[in-house]
Amino acid sequence: MSRFMSQRFAGLEAYVPGEQPQDMQYIKLNTNESPFPPAPAVLEAVNAAEISRLNLYPDPEGKVLREKLAEHYGVRMENVFLANGSDELLNFFFMTFCDGGKPVAFPAVSYGFYPVYARLYNLPHTKIPLREGFRLEPEDYCGIGKNIVIANPNAPTGRSIPVADIEKIVRSSPDHVVMIDEAYIDFGGESCLPLVGKYENLLVCQTFSKFRSLAGGRLGFAIGSPALIEDLDKIRYSTNSYNINRLTMAAAVATIESDEYYVNNSKRIQANRAYTVAELDRLSFETLPSQANFIFTRCPGVDGGSLYRGLKARGVLVRHWDKRSISDWCRVTIGSREQMDIFLEKVREIIKEAE
Ligand code: PMP
Repeated sequence: MSRFMSQRFAGLEAYVPGEQPQDMQYIKLNTNESPFPPAPAVLEAVNAAEISRLNLYPDPEGKVLREKLAEHYGVRMENVFLANGSDELLNFFFMTFCDGGKPVAFPAVSYGFYPVYARLYNLPHTKIPLREGFRLEPEDYCGIGKNIVIANPNAPTGRSIPVADIEKIVRSSPDHVVMIDEAYIDFGGESCLPLVGKYENLLVCQTFSKFRSLAGGRLGFAIGSPALIEDLDKIRYSTNSYNINRLTMAAAVATIESDEYYVNNSKRIQANRAYTVAELDRLSFETLPSQANFIFTRCPGVDGGSLYRGLKARGVLVRHWDKRSISDWCRVTIGSREQMDIFLEKVREIIKEAE
């Protein structure tokens, strides 16, 4: 920290994203991207005509895309908010709704960005422990008098909870905002979007980065009551009114129009997930049940750090955290069948070496 930086950030520990080597020498199973390229219609949408308009600012209201999303999800445009990746949406959530008198709670094992934002804004925050087997107990979140953020499916565990449990939590805290981060909902989980019309305090957050193969385009969105969307917009217009660029906006519209392509890809990922888990079972790994495009797994004879390093040395990147509660485990993104076969081959080598 230089002597120029504001003192209020003296204790801040920044979020550390997964490794992004730019030389493409690795099989990347570490940041939950899709192994599939965007749909052909997306390549056509980001064309010379669109690029030639880059001298003009994009629509700050993102009307065309918001209409498209509203139509796709059966809500109104007033229910839809756009952000530069769901990370930016999370930033807006913490900035807009939380303060010293409005504390926030989230699971103790969850997306690592939640505590970073809480510290960035100096918010009182509570990390609620998960139960046995990293299971999230809805009762732990009912009527606690705080804003709540829950990733469903949770990261990095991959476990999810049913919509009925989310409804219990949302109903028990009508004066607090409950944000459900559905970054991984399209790989077998059950979305709570149908609850949005019923509860003013529910905000559902999704991303184009996973299921929709657009991590490089940076687009996230929230669906919630017009009251919450208006509040978020006030802060967005006070931060960066042109937060979604023209090319991403065009790509996203084409993405929504290509839903079948992405649903098919998700089916392939889910099949590859079942295959990978079954193969790891044969090697006596313990793997949590996952509804996401990744699995959380541990090897009986090799600790998480050694497995991560062994795989990296063999050209496969997975994610490992040096945090006591999860240091035995690795999070492995589910890629193509070919990628998973190479991952499994390297795992077998590592186990053999450890014997
Ligand atoms: N929420 C969760 C639970 C995530 O794992 C991620 C991906 N790292 C994000 C949000 C952010 O995704 P993006 O900013 O790419 O939309």
